[in-house]
Amino acid sequence: MDIEAGTEIVVVGGGMAGARLAQQLAPAAPDVRVTLFGEERHAPYNRVLLAEVLAGRYEPDVIALPATDCTERRVVRVDRAEQLVICDDGSATRYDRLVLATGSNPVLPPLRGLFEAGRGELPLGVHAFRTMDDCLALSGAVRPGVRAVVVGGGLLGVSAARALAARGAHVILLQQGEYLMERQLDEHSGKLLRAHLESMGIEVHTECRVRGLRTRPEGTSRAVRSVELADGYCLGTDLVVLACGVRPRTGLAQAAGLEVAKGIVVDDELRTSDPLIHAIGDCSQHGGVVYGLANAAREQADALASLLLAEAARAAHPAAAPRYTGTRALTRLTLGGSRSSETGIAPFDLAAFGDPLPVPGDDVLRLTDATRGAYRKVVIRDDRLVGGILLGDLAAVGTLARTWEADEPLPATSAPLLHLLTNDGGS
Ligand SMILES: Cc1cc2nc3c(=O)[nH]c(=O)nc-3n(C[C@H](O)[C@H](O)[C@H](O)COP(=O)(O)OP(=O)(O)OC[C@H]3O[C@@H](n4cnc5c(N)ncnc54)[C@H](O)[C@@H]3O)c2cc1C
Repeated sequence: MDIEAGTEIVVVGGGMAGARLAQQLAPAAPDVRVTLFGEERHAPYNRVLLAEVLAGRYEPDVIALPATDCTERRVVRVDRAEQLVICDDGSATRYDRLVLATGSNPVLPPLRGLFEAGRGELPLGVHAFRTMDDCLALSGAVRPGVRAVVVGGGLLGVSAARALAARGAHVILLQQGEYLMERQLDEHSGKLLRAHLESMGIEVHTECRVRGLRTRPEGTSRAVRSVELADGYCLGTDLVVLACGVRPRTGLAQAAGLEVAKGIVVDDELRTSDPLIHAIGDCSQHGGVVYGLANAAREQADALASLLLAEAARAAHPAAAPRYTGTRALTRLTLGGSRSSETGIAPFDLAAFGDPLPVPGDDVLRLTDATRGAYRKVVIRDDRLVGGILLGDLAAVGTLARTWEADEPLPATSAPLLHLLTNDGGS
């Protein structure tokens, strides 16, 4: 069915993708009714900046997304036959088009003692790091001298460790892999990042596997006492942050019988296997890829807004629909702001894109400035830029981002390649 006046569009998930879509649709198509359901008790916010709130640099309201009406309810079921979504209060809302923007869930590792508190709850002092509530709970528990163990040395774990250290906690960061942020960095930049964290007083252990948690009774519940490593060693702690990755939140789609692989499978119109239902953001899988990144969530929201608005216009003037062909944006990772004087912590800038690990036959260009802890690297395969890392100094990020996003053949001589790394033409 085409979008026309009176069409009901229901968006499930008031996160970065869902809120952005609703915010664009509502004013541009005033005759279309847009209902956004979000289960969190906070107005939509920029999740990427949660670590800034935890570090005490921003108040929660500073990271709010542009205002959009979001109804605070959890959608518990999709009835495709009747075109209804059912909420946790029993209410049913009809849709002509449904958009699933349900994001990701944190992965909780199979640790001994994790669910000892009973009723499927985490022991007191143990937190995931995904939502504003996680962030506020951690923020309420952290004070100078508190011992905190962060399990997982990816982007989330590193952000959480920095933020907790900024609040004066004694932080131990445990990473199972050989170096930090293995998905985005190479070994050299992973080590530079480690040195930066250690300079903040964070204790970093790599190739370190956690076996379980030990707890003690507290009231009617249990509180974490220590983290037990695979070699039997126990680290006493007051707080544990579980930052062991995320998994697309696909339960609603699966129960409704939509095609789900790692994420909810969508085509170039961001349509699921049901043509009346779309999926965007972390929960979706396009071209075999689950991005799990803010840039992709934003681009998919923008692409779907254009698609739906074009459809609304097409009802009057037939035209070809725009298509989403994938996200190639450079990922800028947020690891602390620039107002370091407030916390005494040096800012740390990092940007990465594509595949930073070369295969035989690739060309690699590197610039290392050990004194300033800066590192720039690009990987070139045949005549294309396939990946890169900028660390400590993002001056070349604009040039690299434009080259990466354009995906065009690079000139054959080496000077233009060097120009990629040395052109500090702004971001
Ligand atoms: C601490 C942290 C730091 C990050 N840093 C970066 C970074 O530096 N760079 C980067 O690119 N990415 C980063 N990310 C990832 C980025 O935040 C996500 O890619 C982005 O939030 C995805 O947007 P989304 O709307 O798909 O999902 P989300 O923002 O997770 O929003 C989904 C929303 O849907 C709600 N929801 C789910 N199911 C239902 C339901 N049934 N009913 C109602 N509501 C529902 C959820 O509660 C949630 O509010 C970070 C993530 C975290 C947690």
